[in-house]
Amino acid sequence: MEIKNIEFFAENVNSTWSGDFQSPINPPKNTDVVIIGGGIIGVSTAYFLAKEGIKVCLCEKGYISGEQSGRNWGFVRIQGRDEREIPMVLESQRIWRSFSSETGEDTGYEEGGCLFTAHNEKELQSYQSWLELAEKYDIETELIDQKALSNEVGLASKNWIGGIITRTDGRAEPQKATLAIARAAEKLGAIIITGCSVRGIETSGGSLSKVITEKGPINTSTALCAAGAWSSYFCRSLGISVPQLKVRGTVARTNRIETKINGTIFDKRISIRKRNDGGYTLAHGSILDHLITPSTLYYSPKYIRALINEFNVLRLSIGREFINELTAPKTWDLDKESPFEKNRVLNPKPNKKTIAKIQKQLGKVYPELKDANIVESWAGMVETTPDVVPVISHIDKIPGFYLSTGFSGHGFGIGPGAGSVISKMIQNEPTIDLREFRLERFFDGSPIRVETDI
Ligand SMILES: Cc1cc2nc3c(=O)[nH]c(=O)nc-3n(C[C@H](O)[C@H](O)[C@H](O)COP(=O)(O)OP(=O)(O)OC[C@H]3O[C@@H](n4cnc5c(N)ncnc54)[C@H](O)[C@@H]3O)c2cc1C
Repeated sequence: MEIKNIEFFAENVNSTWSGDFQSPINPPKNTDVVIIGGGIIGVSTAYFLAKEGIKVCLCEKGYISGEQSGRNWGFVRIQGRDEREIPMVLESQRIWRSFSSETGEDTGYEEGGCLFTAHNEKELQSYQSWLELAEKYDIETELIDQKALSNEVGLASKNWIGGIITRTDGRAEPQKATLAIARAAEKLGAIIITGCSVRGIETSGGSLSKVITEKGPINTSTALCAAGAWSSYFCRSLGISVPQLKVRGTVARTNRIETKINGTIFDKRISIRKRNDGGYTLAHGSILDHLITPSTLYYSPKYIRALINEFNVLRLSIGREFINELTAPKTWDLDKESPFEKNRVLNPKPNKKTIAKIQKQLGKVYPELKDANIVESWAGMVETTPDVVPVISHIDKIPGFYLSTGFSGHGFGIGPGAGSVISKMIQNEPTIDLREFRLERFFDGSPIRVETDI
């Protein structure tokens, strides 16, 4: 069967911010905060700032959730998270649960549990460290055996000896959630402008004074860079080094099909999520493509620990991306077209071999899905930091400039909680200890700590 590659965001999302992404709105002359990037981190921050009556303008070069936030698997999980992230994930869970009823906007959030499978005793034992952490934070996670597994997943249980499950974990719809949060932010007074690249910033007396967009300048004392996979490039043009490497994740979805599986399952062959439309989102659990670029060589010393951890799942290749990054301008005139206008939406092609593998193994891993058809596939660029934990930080060099990036493959679930935390950081009233998230940790001699993400 032919698999349709996509421009699905433009086609399927009924929103004034997608499709024709040149928004008719012009930036305001003045605002309290400018947010650069309309992914889940940017829109969640806009929502919480607007909720407190702060004037906020969000500029997105393409359309809302056009990049990672609209392309991910849709897992909203606490299970297996790095301990440093747990306070933010708990806050996020609280927000996901109440968001739709509080705002009237549908994120597609549902709680159906998150299961990690175990093929053998060694894998089952590897979950022990999470069980201890879960107990510490009062999270209801349990190890289950094959018999209990069959109640959860039916016939698929025969593939595994057991697993670990957190029933309060959830899922949401990537093609709905970020747009829903953006609409809620707009209702509270946030100005959201799509098709509007931020080209750079200006300072006065060393502090941030203006954000320069392709539609004109905005006077402001505060800006947040939430530019996802573009953050390192944007910051580099300001003389700020942000270690960031990208991996391509390939994803697919099936048609509607009835099975017992009602949550999310992480399995090293095929991970799946039940979708609101009755189908399943599918991804290979152990294939990530890294296209080698000059950044790989430059930042690799900081990534040694992460590379060792992910060695088995990374597929390295070198091609056009190396030359593209090498020849990309490092700086540009702010009154001329910038590299951001030239690439409105990062839309990598899905890896055909990965899709073929998923298609071949689907019926074996999930017998009840043997008749399901893959009807769409896509890919997204996941951006990672050396310790696989995000950066949520003020930038000392430019007072008024903040950075929130590097959510390393799990920013969708954490997104609303991160938005709440970031909005408080910007107001100088931090709600959690942000030291673990500061950018400087990569440069001040702190050990780069990669906790196992089971
Ligand atoms: C295949 C895949 C699977 C994933 N699965 C999960 C999952 O199951 N659960 C989970 O929690 N997370 C998952 N993630 C990770 C999650 O999607 C991301 O961590 C999260 O979406 C990051 O949000 P963001 O707002 O930081 O970035 P993005 O969503 O990438 O948004 C950044 C935005 O900034 C814009 N931008 C960049 N530069 C500029 C500029 N100069 N001016 C204006 N706009 C600009 C971009 O156009 C983009 O829209 C996955 C990611 C991928 C790709």
